[in-house]
Amino acid sequence: HLINQVLTLEKYDSGAYKLNLASELLNDILNQAIDTILPLAKERNVSIKNQIPDTQYLLSCDRGLIIQVLINLLSNAIKFSNQDAGEVCIFISNSDQDITVCISDNGRGIDAELKELIFDKFFQAKNQTLRKPEGSGLGLAICKKIIDLHHGNIWIESEPGYGAKFYFTLPIKKV
Ligand code: ADP
Repeated sequence: HLINQVLTLEKYDSGAYKLNLASELLNDILNQAIDTILPLAKERNVSIKNQIPDTQYLLSCDRGLIIQVLINLLSNAIKFSNQDAGEVCIFISNSDQDITVCISDNGRGIDAELKELIFDKFFQAKNQTLRKPEGSGLGLAICKKIIDLHHGNIWIESEPGYGAKFYFTLPIKKV
């Protein structure tokens, strides 16, 4: 899995990856990602609050890759949410040009100085020298690459102790 993640990042970095673009409905993609992640949420006793409106937004995107981003962010949110009463929310907003997806949790949050570093390759490995890392530290680096390839942005808002909010934007397809 680690080797595959490294190779994937290299492929994105080298520009050799061609997006498999198609017209997709945002809600279909979100629902597929949520369905995939529900068993993990149940196992960890984390409630998922889906606050997605019925509005249909059409995107031109690589469905498999955007689902990968959502699953990464959702599984991190579940993993790092409050141990006793874990709660993860998904909501979206839009401007004329973009939709913004937000995935929030009620866990320990992320320190201000780490908000950029966290998207670096192997960040976790650098950050946690004293114990065996549970993941690879590549998940968010891959998320950022995928969103960059779609000309979107990805960022974090967090007040440490009060959870983290991960946002990403994608351009709305003009019809
Ligand atoms: P990993 O696969 O090791 O979790 P990621 O790139 O997905 O790698 O995450 C890197 C690091 O960012 C994690 O090890 C963790 O320290 C931090 N992190 C990611 N998501 C969250 C979150 N929702 N709340 C707090 N910390 C987080």
